[in-house]
Amino acid sequence: MAIQSFLEGYKAFREEFHRDRANFFRALVDRGQNPDVMVIACSDSRVDPAIIGKAEPGEFFVVRNVANLVLPYGSNSIYDGTSSAIEFAVRDLEVKDIILLGHTHCGGIKRFCECDQKNKERVFVDNWMSNIENVNDGGLEGEERLRYVEKESIKLSLGNLMTFPWLKERVHEGKLDLHGWLFDLEKCAILKYLAPYGWENL
Ligand SMILES: [Zn+2]
Repeated sequence: MAIQSFLEGYKAFREEFHRDRANFFRALVDRGQNPDVMVIACSDSRVDPAIIGKAEPGEFFVVRNVANLVLPYGSNSIYDGTSSAIEFAVRDLEVKDIILLGHTHCGGIKRFCECDQKNKERVFVDNWMSNIENVNDGGLEGEERLRYVEKESIKLSLGNLMTFPWLKERVHEGKLDLHGWLFDLEKCAILKYLAPYGWENL
């Protein structure tokens, strides 16, 4: 049974945190969560922020969606779960950093690049990915285009983050930093976006 791997992992997790580190978890309950970092990542099973960042419970406030997109502030995002997570992280938790963590070989980006936008077979995914319809594809084709759009999509979402007025205010006050990162699956390495110059190794 595929579910068995989860059950075994849960057993090991519970032994560690219930038996060996009970005080650590008790403190998280008593004091509540107080993470300094928010991560907005893709739902892809290969890019779990807590694993990549070797995080402890309580360390990262994470929201994941298909292709780690952030919608612009406004009427379209009023019912969006990612926008509500951003609001809670910035206005209530007052996180100090937001990492937008994209990755190479993203299925959402591939779907966007390869599907006929006029014939949307996957109602939710295709409409969700249409949020990046204005992204620059560099006039490229094939894998080169995918790698390019994966990066451009991160830049687009970084720009969209700055449309949230209370988020922008905290950035300008020096209380919040935004980071655009791309996890390269082949190299198991992170590239960071340095506006306006480009990408470099973390
Ligand atoms: Zn992805």
